[in-house]
Amino acid sequence: VTLLSNRRAEVPSPDDLLCESCGYTLNGLPDDGNCPECGEPVRRSTTDAGRGPTAYEIEPSAASFWSVTGQILLRTKTFYRTLSVKTGPTPLSARFSLMQRVIVGAIAIAVLVGHLNITGTLSGISFGDTWWMTAIVSVVCGSVLVPALAWIGTLASKLSAFEAGWWGMRLPLNAVRRAMDYHSAAYVPVAIGAFVIIWGYLLLRATDVLAIDTLPTYLYVLAGYVIVAAGYLFRMFVIAMTSIRWANQ
Ligand SMILES: [Zn+2]
Repeated sequence: VTLLSNRRAEVPSPDDLLCESCGYTLNGLPDDGNCPECGEPVRRSTTDAGRGPTAYEIEPSAASFWSVTGQILLRTKTFYRTLSVKTGPTPLSARFSLMQRVIVGAIAIAVLVGHLNITGTLSGISFGDTWWMTAIVSVVCGSVLVPALAWIGTLASKLSAFEAGWWGMRLPLNAVRRAMDYHSAAYVPVAIGAFVIIWGYLLLRATDVLAIDTLPTYLYVLAGYVIVAAGYLFRMFVIAMTSIRWANQ
């Protein structure tokens, strides 16, 4: 309904001043006035909009990396509502994304080692019972994930910017790509969830809490988790896009 009601004939120009609260065009209105559409003070979209670089960009460190990660995961809407997007991706937002993807790749290696130990196969292809085959397959697949997630992010950004333009929404590619750099943080809990399921199952099997006939259940749980994870990532992405679509900074 929100998407439909906001459909416009034309995409607002990058120079248009949009109301951060409702998207109404505020061009030429004084800073001490209110939005004619929703009543929100104009300054909340201008001088008091509160958008800026992230703590990691202001002072890159391990502490700011994890604090920004926490903000993205736990206060998602607030994070993207206070993120400046006009700059597009910056070297530091790109580095933030790379670090998140390296963490995900490392967890993915452990996830694959566990999964191959349980089933001996990956997508139905058998990799035998040798430890070195398991190691090679896991390291290669986990490493490929690091650039692959970046390619997926770029593709998703282009599709989103294109579709937003079709709907008349102001979501230029540069703004979407910048948000997607930070969206990379959402892959980490997904990878940790898979790790807990797979290594939890291995532990329960090793301690004989679960018998070998629980293998189909393990595969069902894993398939269900993939769907839940995809839903989670999509929801986080939608929150990001709806929180930056009326950004003026
Ligand atoms: Zn408004």
